[in-house]
Amino acid sequence: MTAVNLLDFDLAGLTAYCEQLGEKRFRATQLFRWIHQRGACDFSHMSDLAKSLRERLGGVAEVRVPAVISEQASADGTIKWLFDVGGGDAVETVFIPEDDRGTLCVSSQAGCAVGCRFCSTGHQGFSRNLTTAEIVGQLWHAEHQLRVRLNLAEGTRAITNVVLMGMGEPLQNYAALLPALRVMLDDHGYGLSRRRVTVSTSGVVPMMDRLRADCPVALAVSLHAPDDALRDDLVPLNRKYPLNELLSACSRYLESAPRDFITFEYCMLDGVNDSLAHAAQLVELVQGSGGQPISCKFNLIPFNPFPASGLLRSPRERVLQFAKALQDAGIVTTIRKTRGDDIDAACGQLAGEVQDRTRLRQRLAGRVHIPIVAEAPNVLQIDLTAAHEGHP
Ligand code: SAH
Ligand code: SF4
Repeated sequence: MTAVNLLDFDLAGLTAYCEQLGEKRFRATQLFRWIHQRGACDFSHMSDLAKSLRERLGGVAEVRVPAVISEQASADGTIKWLFDVGGGDAVETVFIPEDDRGTLCVSSQAGCAVGCRFCSTGHQGFSRNLTTAEIVGQLWHAEHQLRVRLNLAEGTRAITNVVLMGMGEPLQNYAALLPALRVMLDDHGYGLSRRRVTVSTSGVVPMMDRLRADCPVALAVSLHAPDDALRDDLVPLNRKYPLNELLSACSRYLESAPRDFITFEYCMLDGVNDSLAHAAQLVELVQGSGGQPISCKFNLIPFNPFPASGLLRSPRERVLQFAKALQDAGIVTTIRKTRGDDIDAACGQLAGEVQDRTRLRQRLAGRVHIPIVAEAPNVLQIDLTAAHEGHP
């Protein structure tokens, strides 16, 4: 019998599990705190649990974190871990320290099926969704290791913010994502406020609606283009959920949290999406030619090039002009600092090791039809026919 991995549970799930074992509900809270707040994975160390329960758990359950394959530290303090998730797949997690915060960039899938042109994860293809335990395990490992490394006082957190901006499209792995978010927010878990946990999406519209109902954390939307023709090309999911639907979903998202804003991410690609005309179109798009303006910020990301993309980073001057055009229209705009690029830990450089079970990589290279993945929470529906037809 395989042991149940307790990292797969949010507190409600762990409570149900403890009840199945005939234990009182409050035992689940104690156990949850040992695991997430104190970083314990050995039941015998959980001194305030009854000895009989500790022994019982030892026989049926475990706290299993993906094994670390490698760890690299950048000159700027950024740390990147590569985790083995089995089957030849490995995913990356990045810690980015700043003066007033420590941000962990977490992966949600081994690879990604969306296949954006400018993203090296997308070019790797797709293998599988991560489990809740594999998503939470990245945070568990980073938090508890950093506390020791940074010599933090008891009760001090190393990670103050989490962004789902690593490998994968989190909203195409909703079933595993939701309990993971709940563990992050739970006061008995990592106790992060919902504004300090950000889900970044390429625009899986129905799942944006689910998220706002279930767990309205901060939302970042990867926009990258001001019109459908260009976005269809850069972010293939746009063919399924075009801009008008995406922006309506953004407005609905904000209805549940009126004081919040959406962060639009915009990767600056030389000669592709970076002209002043594009900036003007963007202003029109988000400030509404007829609809309600969307409360938003822009985050311009200097493109991190990789050879297979055939794309180049916009010159610094153009990025500054673009930012100014948005700012002049009253939109708060930031330019993302590139961190950890000496260890390939910057946005879009996370490539891990992925068994491309969809042959997306080949299809991207050959510019053949790219599948658009449905938003089914658990089942990943990929157009496998193309893969089996032996496209280049
Ligand atoms: N799939 C989600 C989250 C992971 S990607 C999404 O697309 O939002 C996280 C961010 O990195 C996205 O905004 C994405 O557009 C950006 N990104 C991907 N490749 C990049 C690259 N080569 N250079 C800069 N940013 C990139
Ligand atoms: Fe997937 Fe995001 Fe990369 Fe697009 S940018 S391929 S959605 S990880």
